[in-house]
Amino acid sequence: MKLIPIWLGTALVSVSLLGCTDNSTPSSQQSTVATEQTTQSEQVNPLLQPWTGPYQGVPAFDKMKLADLTAALELGMAQHLADIDKITANPEAASFENTIVALEGVGEALDRVFTYYGIWSANQSSEEFRAIQREMAPKLSEFSSKITQNEALFKRIAAVYHSEQMQSLTSEQQRLTKLVYLGFANNGATLNEEQKKRYADINQRLAQLYTKFSNNVLADEEGYVLYLNAEQLGGLPDSLVKAAAAAATSRGKEGMYAITNTRSSMDPFLTYSTERELRKQVWNTYYSRGDNADEHDNNALIAEILALRDERVGLLGFDNYATWRLQDRMAKTPQRAMDLMMSVWPAAIARVQEEVADMQALAKQQGDDISIEPWDYRFYAEQVRKAKYDLNSDEVKQYLQLDKLREAMFYVAGRLFNFNFTPVAEGSVPVFHQDVKVWEVTDKTTGKHIGLWYLDPFARTGKRSGAWATSYRGYSKYDGVKNVLSSNNSNFIKGAPGEAVLISWDDAETYFHEFGHALHALSSNVTYPTLNGGVRDYTEFQSQLLERWLLTDEVINQFLVHHKTGEAMPAELVAKIKNAATFNEGFKTTEYLASAIIDLKLHMLDDPKGIDPDAFERDTLAAMGMPSQVVMRHRTPQFGHVFSGEGYAAAYYGYMWAEVLTSDAAEAFAQAPGGFYDKNVAAKLVEYLFSVRNALDPEEAYRAFRGRDAKIEALMRDRGFPLPSEQ
Ligand SMILES: [Zn+2]
Repeated sequence: MKLIPIWLGTALVSVSLLGCTDNSTPSSQQSTVATEQTTQSEQVNPLLQPWTGPYQGVPAFDKMKLADLTAALELGMAQHLADIDKITANPEAASFENTIVALEGVGEALDRVFTYYGIWSANQSSEEFRAIQREMAPKLSEFSSKITQNEALFKRIAAVYHSEQMQSLTSEQQRLTKLVYLGFANNGATLNEEQKKRYADINQRLAQLYTKFSNNVLADEEGYVLYLNAEQLGGLPDSLVKAAAAAATSRGKEGMYAITNTRSSMDPFLTYSTERELRKQVWNTYYSRGDNADEHDNNALIAEILALRDERVGLLGFDNYATWRLQDRMAKTPQRAMDLMMSVWPAAIARVQEEVADMQALAKQQGDDISIEPWDYRFYAEQVRKAKYDLNSDEVKQYLQLDKLREAMFYVAGRLFNFNFTPVAEGSVPVFHQDVKVWEVTDKTTGKHIGLWYLDPFARTGKRSGAWATSYRGYSKYDGVKNVLSSNNSNFIKGAPGEAVLISWDDAETYFHEFGHALHALSSNVTYPTLNGGVRDYTEFQSQLLERWLLTDEVINQFLVHHKTGEAMPAELVAKIKNAATFNEGFKTTEYLASAIIDLKLHMLDDPKGIDPDAFERDTLAAMGMPSQVVMRHRTPQFGHVFSGEGYAAAYYGYMWAEVLTSDAAEAFAQAPGGFYDKNVAAKLVEYLFSVRNALDPEEAYRAFRGRDAKIEALMRDRGFPLPSEQ
């Protein structure tokens, strides 16, 4: 059972930092037994049908029709609720089997509908689909509440959780029971009637405030456009000029050039424009979004959001929102997350001073009589980059062929996971678009079938941007072994027939990253579907780690080969790539950490009522010694991750938390006798970091892998920062 897929949650915020989502969902199981309530319509609606065909049954992507979606969702929800009614109607006392395990099998038909829903939402969206989405959103939200507020159900779950039987369960079963219990308790199931009402009122008000917050940011992004004439384009590359011309034309300003108030416009403009006054104007406008003391100002909304969140967790007995949020995260407490960030902070701001000194010297050399301001940072950093780390991205591209990179990923999976990837026979597995290809995954030694891997590599209309991984079916074995149907999705531009598709270094890393999510799903060995669920500050770690294999000698020599000559990437070019990796790290780490620290501090306040967010941000940063040349990556009044929903509230720290693990785990390989392909370390990687998913507390799992807790030293080395002991 999954309560609600993440693409429907209020937490749906685009994440620009990593640009990736792991949509691995706890379960999607096939069912061969129809319930008694099965109606005629259920039997004929293809979206609800058990999956048939080879490989334990596969989604009928060839039978997807939008016309069936609304009815399928409604029937699926009804059946899901009926399944739950059967559990609560059981006259026997609640037990692990008749309640917790029974819940795992609930709503299988709806899970199948959500697989198709996910494809329509991410891979082939349309106006017609979005209309259905709008119509169904409130119904799905109501459905979700019906489950979390089902008192009879929660009573049974709580009875198991507090029962003597709990002690006799396996540790995996205990963890499952605890996670299910907390999933309900943390969302208000323990409250009395009056409290429940207040809880629901708060959530309703918060939902309104989240929408308002993001609409205000959007209004400021759309409302401010800087129009330039041909004399004001100094320094801008052709591609940017063309995009700006098109943006102006589409706004009825033919012949002008529009710089819009978004990151994708602001960032390159500040990097390349030689017009300092215009850079200042673009910078000011962008970092003032939601903070202009007008009808789109977000400060009052933030104060109200923080107060309501604090009141809501107060009903559950927590001192502050961050404490509530982090209890089931790997960090466990806000203080531990804060300690980590504060131990990196001094090195980050010290590096900013070095970067500023470099830029200042370069500006002087060029005869620019200025002192570096925030709107100068990207511009002079780019000059420094050219002088110090010149890396020709076009030259790198010649060695990055999409097909070869996929072979490289398969090679790595073979060496680390003992997986073999074989293309399925053409036409044997239905796909939703002809570009989608499918491979069967087996164990290299035993030939045992593990699952399928679907790849949808190319951009097209109706497909969301970025790259992501998702699973159509997760592994479980409590009710017979279920194989895994995993997928990777990206937006590469299709080349001419017969020509190699060449991609950038960043894209190659992302390709490996998403494949890491797929391997995490494919290697799962959990008993119960719920235990496939992700832990926010942990679930990006496995995928980040896999990126490290891109630069191993085995991959470079066999797969990073020139598309024309077939020669491996030369050592000098590899060295340049490694060298450039720490460039501008002071700026990047500082702008990120400033946002993450403010997010956490705002949610650690015991009484946020009446807070002035602007003043809080200013005073806190000043006390931390924030360099005047850098601004938060997301200033508070525009911090959508945190205030457009709850997905990243008190959770933005998670990126760095996962990166500490990534660097530390990568060093375990680097220092092993067999390096990144060391058999012993690889076996531990699969056993403790991948296959357990959420069946084991992440902290314990990591300790089992490494023999100790993660340390920050490896991250500091990766970023080129001095170690804490050397500072
Ligand atoms: Zn990811």
